[in-house]
Amino acid sequence: MNRIEKACQEKGMRMTGQRRVIARVIAEAKDHPDVEELHRRASAIDPHISIATVYRTVKLFEEAGILERLDFRDGRARYEPIGDEHHDHLIDLNTGEIIEFTSQEIEELQERIARELGYKLVDPRLELYGVKITRDE
Ligand SMILES: [Zn+2]
Repeated sequence: MNRIEKACQEKGMRMTGQRRVIARVIAEAKDHPDVEELHRRASAIDPHISIATVYRTVKLFEEAGILERLDFRDGRARYEPIGDEHHDHLIDLNTGEIIEFTSQEIEELQERIARELGYKLVDPRLELYGVKITRDE
């Protein structure tokens, strides 16, 4: 059983064959797929899975706190399993490539800013948008 299926089981979710396939595709993803991409991958395993089923399942997983929805300003909701080690994202505006990074310094700074403003951080996320520096610049 993959970690997504396991999380579903822990939440007491009823797992159909198609949900299992979608859970597997999500667990195996190393990128940040949107619903269309998840549907493409799930279809390769079970051609009967409709995009509507993928939409519904992803929403269900999201509501159950298994998946996190990410928005990188390209109009497509992307998904990533919650429970992955915390990281932030840098988005290449030219290629759309998404680079994951972690910075202890940033984490501490965010905590400090929130605390100084009288808040406890519950969802620290940071997205950086950039273009790659070419050699001439
Ligand atoms: Zn990520």
